[in-house]
Amino acid sequence: MRLILFGEPGAGKGTLSAMLQHRVGIKHVSTGDIFRREIARGTELGKLASGYLSKGLLVPDDVVLKIVAELFQDSEFSKGFVLDGFPRTVAQAEALDKLLSEKGWTIDGIIRIKVDSEELASRLSSRRVCRSCGAIYNLVNFPPKVKGVCDKCGGQLYQREDDYEDAVKVRLHVYDTQTAPVLDYFKNHKELVEIDTTGDDAEASYVKLFTALGESKGRG
Ligand code: ADP
Ligand code: ZN
Repeated sequence: MRLILFGEPGAGKGTLSAMLQHRVGIKHVSTGDIFRREIARGTELGKLASGYLSKGLLVPDDVVLKIVAELFQDSEFSKGFVLDGFPRTVAQAEALDKLLSEKGWTIDGIIRIKVDSEELASRLSSRRVCRSCGAIYNLVNFPPKVKGVCDKCGGQLYQREDDYEDAVKVRLHVYDTQTAPVLDYFKNHKELVEIDTTGDDAEASYVKLFTALGESKGRG
């Protein structure tokens, strides 16, 4: 199964992708996670990406596309994947189509996750992430059992720098201007389905996602 999760920062792409990986065994690919890992390791790529991430700006397309092209060569990838945070520009969407057609692969579902803007802001400001395993928590509706500590691995929880208020504003603007046009690009794909998860917790969102996938298949 090959899926794309699409939506504003804070819509729940990362949480739902992790659930899909854990429960259905589809490989979760988050370009944001890849960059955060490289930054933590202090690699050249990490140094290059760091300035963009901390400000909430997009990493340049050529850098992102090089990483994704390499992923496509990975044999693990041929078993299926859920893309989280890619494509994020029309140029990336075009490049993805090209990579897919080279492989003869099709996408089974493009899920547009909607959440109202007030809730997006509150989800982002209360989000905490595990430094070690990347697990995502929410101080309001999904807090860790022990404050500041990851339930899954005991790692330290932190607030992403781009979840601070100033960077959030930039990210939402970047979404509107650079990422939202990708939806137009996808408009004619029959695999495109929309779910609205405003007010839902992760479990309720997951049920909606699954239902939507069934509908998308029915159309395909
Ligand atoms: P969110 O969807 O919550 O904003 P991500 O973890 O997907 O978080 O992305 C975090 C940051 O990583 C982005 O703000 C951007 O700087 C960078 N990034 C991730 N994916 C891409 C991409 N496909 N193109 C450009 N930059 C990206
Ligand atoms: Zn952890």
